[in-house]
Amino acid sequence: MIRARIAKPSERLEFRDPERVQAFRQALDRLCRDLPEPISIMHVCGTHEQSIARFGLRSLLPPNLRVIMGPGCPVCVTDMPEVDEAVYLAEQGVILATFGDMFRVPGTRKSLAEAKAEGADVRVIYSPWEALQIARETDREVVFFATGFETTAVATAAVILSGPPKNFSVLSAHKYIPPVMEIVAEMPQTRVQGFLAAGHAATITGWKIFERFVERHGIPVVVAGFEPLDILSALVQLVELIRRGEKRVVNAYPRCVTPEGNRNAQRLLWEVFETESGVWRGIAYVPNGNLRLRRKYAWVDARARFEIRLSEWLGDAPPRLTQECLCGNIMAGIATPYDCRLFGKECTPENPVGACMVSSEGACRIWYEYGGHITGPKGMRELEGTDLT
Ligand code: SF4
Ligand code: SF4
Repeated sequence: MIRARIAKPSERLEFRDPERVQAFRQALDRLCRDLPEPISIMHVCGTHEQSIARFGLRSLLPPNLRVIMGPGCPVCVTDMPEVDEAVYLAEQGVILATFGDMFRVPGTRKSLAEAKAEGADVRVIYSPWEALQIARETDREVVFFATGFETTAVATAAVILSGPPKNFSVLSAHKYIPPVMEIVAEMPQTRVQGFLAAGHAATITGWKIFERFVERHGIPVVVAGFEPLDILSALVQLVELIRRGEKRVVNAYPRCVTPEGNRNAQRLLWEVFETESGVWRGIAYVPNGNLRLRRKYAWVDARARFEIRLSEWLGDAPPRLTQECLCGNIMAGIATPYDCRLFGKECTPENPVGACMVSSEGACRIWYEYGGHITGPKGMRELEGTDLT
C-alpha cells in the first residue's frame, strides 16, 4: 500500500517542493498502473480548478485518472431569474451593489452591466460591508445582490446581524454546496468515483458534514487545500480509498479544517439563513440547495421589501442564451470547455456568451486563461520545467 506523506500542522509547510511533487506523481502512477477502468474524480470548487489549471497539474496525472469540474463556481450557478430580479430592482431606481463577477452575467433580457450602461445605479463591491457602507452614506434604498456559497453567506449574515440601516436590504442568491453534491452523484452520466471537497467551505462546515453523503452514496470524499501539493496529496489519498473500496471521508487539509468546523460561523449562517429548494443554473433543481433569509429577517430581505414583478417585466422575452452554451454540462461534469464550439471564438472573457466564461472561478474562463488538460509530449509541462512558484 502506498502511503502519501502529509504535512502535519506543526511541520514547516513547504507547499511547492518539487521532490514531493515528484513523489506524489510517482505514487499516482503506481496506484493507477493496473486499474481495470479509468477513475473519475470530481472537485466542486472554482479555486481548485484555478490551481489545477494554473499549475498544469492535469499534465502530471496518469492518463487513466480524470479530474473533472463540478458546480464549483457560485456565479455560474446563479440562475437567470435571480439575475433578472437584480436587474429589475436596479431599473426601479435602487442602488444595486454586487460582486464584480456578477456584473456581466447575462440575465434573460440583460446583464447588470447593460442595465448600468442604460442608466441604472449598479455598483461593484468587494465585500458586503462595502454595500452596508454605501447604505450608511445615502438615504436611497441599497440592495446587496448576494451570491456565493456558504463561505460567503457567513459574511452576508454578519452584515445583517450588525444592525444595518433601514434603507439596506439583501437579495440572496446564496447557494449551499452539500445538496448539489448529492444531485451530481446521482446523475447517471457523471459516474464520479470520488469527490475532492473544497477546503474553504469545509473550514466553515467541518469535514464530518460529508459523512452522511458518503453513507448515502458510497462515494469517498477527501477534503483538499489549494496548494499544488495539497491537491496532489489529496488525489493520492482519494485514489487509495477508491482502490481499496473504502467509503469514508479523509481530511487532507488538517491545518485549516477540523471535524466540526467553525461553530461561530455556522451559528451566524443558520441564525440568518435557512435552506430552500431551487434551480442551479444549467444543472438541476436542487432540493435545499439555496439559502434564503429566515422570516424573522424579512425587514432586510429585498424579496419581502419590494414587489418584484418579473413575469410582467419580462413579458415574453426569450432568454438570450444560445443552446450551444454547454455551461450546464460542464458544471455537471459531463463536458469540458473544449467541447463547446464557441469556446475561444464567439465566447471569450471580453465577450462572454455563458456564465462560465464570466467569472474568475468559471471553468471556461480558467481554461481560456491557463489552458485545460494538456496531453501529449508537445503540450506536456514536464515536472522539472513546471513553475510551481
Ligand atoms: S466559495 Fe470558496 S470553497 Fe466555495 S467554490 Fe468559491 S473558493 Fe471554493
Ligand atoms: S465557452 Fe462560453 S458558450 Fe461555451 S460553455 Fe463556456 S461559457 Fe458557455
